[in-house]
Amino acid sequence: MKAEIIAVGTEILVGDIVNTNAQFISERLFALGIDVHYQTVVGDNPGRLTDAVSLAFSRADVVIFSGGLGPTDDDLTKETVAAYFDAPLLFHEDIKLQIEQYLHKTCSGGNTKQAYIPEGAVILQNDRGTAPGIILEKNEKTAILLPGPPRELLPMFTEQVEPYLKQRSGFVMVEKMVRIFGIGESRVGDIISDLMESANPTVAPYAKDNEVTLRIAAKAETEKAANAMIEDMNKKLSERLGAYIYGYDEMDMAKTVVALLQEKNLTIACAESCTAGLLTATLGDVPGVSSVLHESIVTYSNEAKQKHLHVSAETLAQYGAVSEQTAIEMAEGIQKTTGAKVGVSVTGIAGPDGGTEEKPVGLVYVAVAYGGSTTVRRLQLIGTRGKIRQASVLHALNEVRKRIVSK
Ligand code: ATP
Ligand code: MG
Repeated sequence: MKAEIIAVGTEILVGDIVNTNAQFISERLFALGIDVHYQTVVGDNPGRLTDAVSLAFSRADVVIFSGGLGPTDDDLTKETVAAYFDAPLLFHEDIKLQIEQYLHKTCSGGNTKQAYIPEGAVILQNDRGTAPGIILEKNEKTAILLPGPPRELLPMFTEQVEPYLKQRSGFVMVEKMVRIFGIGESRVGDIISDLMESANPTVAPYAKDNEVTLRIAAKAETEKAANAMIEDMNKKLSERLGAYIYGYDEMDMAKTVVALLQEKNLTIACAESCTAGLLTATLGDVPGVSSVLHESIVTYSNEAKQKHLHVSAETLAQYGAVSEQTAIEMAEGIQKTTGAKVGVSVTGIAGPDGGTEEKPVGLVYVAVAYGGSTTVRRLQLIGTRGKIRQASVLHALNEVRKRIVSK
């Protein structure tokens, strides 16, 4: 089943409002396994709307309209689609009564117009506004007309349109997001290029800052069958990318680490230099983190590293603040002073100044003290100051994750 979306409204065309309805509908149609081939925006103009309607129906089985069902003269979606379907508009006394009940007054001209429905249409109840939604079918073509305001359209879609479409399409779509860290998008592409050619389930990469996500999407007659296809593909991905896969769906890096700490009954404390609290703040974004994170310390200066974390003066003098040795002592220091089970430290040069040939901007050390041993990782990151700090946080969390899972 092929679908298109037509958002009607000059407001969208001139950029006054963003077409969030089309985004919402597309997302939901995808989940239903219905292919959306085109999205159109057209102004409140009868000629151009008529053109858009006939073009859409020349390609699609279902066309979903948003907007233009209101009481004013420039609301003409219903009139235009009814004319295209050759369906006369018939007055519905019961709808007029509902509108009057909703408005707590008798209908004036404009609202009366909303009580006219194309002959043979299915009427969709609108509890949050005056315009009813409309489903009109003719010769295997279906028009679904929805009111423009999102607070009316969204519930109408999920509660009334989705059940209708589900029954029509006979398919379900299931998706799973596979979260990957520590490897770039092009490398991922090389490793799984053959799998990315699969038509069902599909595998598509999405690169974000410092992270790659693969979306597996399967279409099947039942949810169970779709899930089985997803798991099968996930297994293949794990065989090739296993070491880099850290989580699924909404479990981002911070959530994953917090969940692991909770599961293993561990506490964590951070000693931050170049991230200056960003690591702790990122953990702090996760609801329920207080069960595993009790305190952290920002130590920017050498003095602070000595005073709060007991990094030795010799280490700082001999190797410098940005060094493997300092990172290790910071991690062990925070572990000791706070009594946390996991101590993690970050020290580096976020730039844009402060780099040298020997220690360039982007050089960052991340250390994790846990269970009697400390590991340290040297990173050479690139990008702006913000990007380097962000990437440092993700690497630090990932190092913690790797340590905890390997135990
Ligand atoms: P009304 O009865 O309010 O006139 P309507 O069905 O005629 O509803 P429009 O007049 O096209 O819809 O739009 C009404 C309001 O709904 C807009 O001012 C805007 O706030 C919102 N809206 C319309 N279309 C969209 C869209 N595609 N995406 C997001 N919001 C929209
Ligand atoms: Mg309107």
